[in-house]
Amino acid sequence: MERYSRQQLFAPIGERGQQSIREKHVLLIGAGALGAANAETLVRAGIGKITIIDRDYVEWSNLQRQQLYTEEDATNRLPKAIAAAVHLRAINRDVVVEPIVADADARLLEHVVARERPHVMIDSTDNFDVRMIINDVSQKYDVPWIYGACVGSYGLSYVIVPNETPCLRCLLEEVPLGNATCDTVGIISPVVHMVVAHQTAEALKICVHVQVNRKLVSFDIWHGQYRMIDVHKLKKDDCPSCSEKRTYPALQYENETKFAVLCGRETVQIRPAHRGEREWTTLLSFLTKRGIQVEQNEYLFSFTIHRYRFVVFFDGRVFIHGTNDVQEAKRLYYQYLG
Ligand SMILES: [Zn+2]
Repeated sequence: MERYSRQQLFAPIGERGQQSIREKHVLLIGAGALGAANAETLVRAGIGKITIIDRDYVEWSNLQRQQLYTEEDATNRLPKAIAAAVHLRAINRDVVVEPIVADADARLLEHVVARERPHVMIDSTDNFDVRMIINDVSQKYDVPWIYGACVGSYGLSYVIVPNETPCLRCLLEEVPLGNATCDTVGIISPVVHMVVAHQTAEALKICVHVQVNRKLVSFDIWHGQYRMIDVHKLKKDDCPSCSEKRTYPALQYENETKFAVLCGRETVQIRPAHRGEREWTTLLSFLTKRGIQVEQNEYLFSFTIHRYRFVVFFDGRVFIHGTNDVQEAKRLYYQYLG
């Protein structure tokens, strides 16, 4: 296996470790900056299978740091999961790549994890609601997960192993996990790679059955700061996610149409209560009659009305660009799409 010779020469991995990596399945949640770099690193390392969940499509402002994507992907507004799969298969044809274009909500994540039983989950989201879902799914199905976050030049990473480490919910009140998002203060690509370096190193350790780093790592790559925080005492006896009294609060499903402002992007996402492919012909003929130009690919169509750009995914989700206001988005949604 010439391809992995350098990795096999690394003693803690070796030939047996390489074989073990080959048999592992990683579930990656989010295919933005962290997701793209995590995916590329693990696919090059020869992981057996990678499942990628992402709800978004490639935009020009992504290209500065989301290393898998090209100008062509942005021009075609390809869903990130699909674009990532195309590029990853070109990098390593031996890896099974499964893209899922969807919102990583509780229902979907639990379904995928129950069905696939991945060996590790990697957090590449920028969203605390999703992290809490990953955290509960991890505990319920006994799958370790690797938290990662970055903003500006600051980054964090931490591995959660069920029954061994405190979970992310245990740490919430104790550790400043940050709440600024990439869109409000910006981000530089090097910090993405530093977070990904930690996440993928720990993922490889899990793949070869070596004990993970139990400390939370935080750093600022611009200002040259690096800290390892011992968090083992922070495990809570009454944690609703990981204690004996657990109720998995993030897995309580909601059956209503949800409106969510996407981090600082002047965009609201609408997730309808009734999911699945919908018949869009009425809407499309309504738009055509009014001379509104519709752009379409295999996964979504988009159009502009007044100053709003609507992007409709065939799974039923809608992005309305041009507003941060949920009430306004509701009005627009029910007016044109509801
Ligand atoms: Zn906990």
